[in-house]
Amino acid sequence: MAESEYSENKKICRKCLIAAQLEAVDVAAELDSFLAMLKPEDLAGEDLFTKRISICKDCSYLLGATCNACGCYVEFRANVKHGNCPKKKW
Ligand code: SF4
Repeated sequence: MAESEYSENKKICRKCLIAAQLEAVDVAAELDSFLAMLKPEDLAGEDLFTKRISICKDCSYLLGATCNACGCYVEFRANVKHGNCPKKKW
């Protein structure tokens, strides 16, 4: 984006990019599509997934549904059998 678009005279909404992303992306549907592409043997399984997400829920890097250490949605990462935590917590 050109520097002039961020001039002092132009107000920038602090939430515009997030709002546009939320309008454009249905994260739950994206997760369903992602999971449908994986082979059953590549899925973490319910017990492993639940264990991972419980660790994420207590982690200081969790920001909403996103890992602030890597930028991933944790439910995407935790569903993959060979997925890993960027901070080696699971
Ligand atoms: S993936 Fe790891 S670092 Fe990220 S929120 Fe979960 S436990 Fe924390």
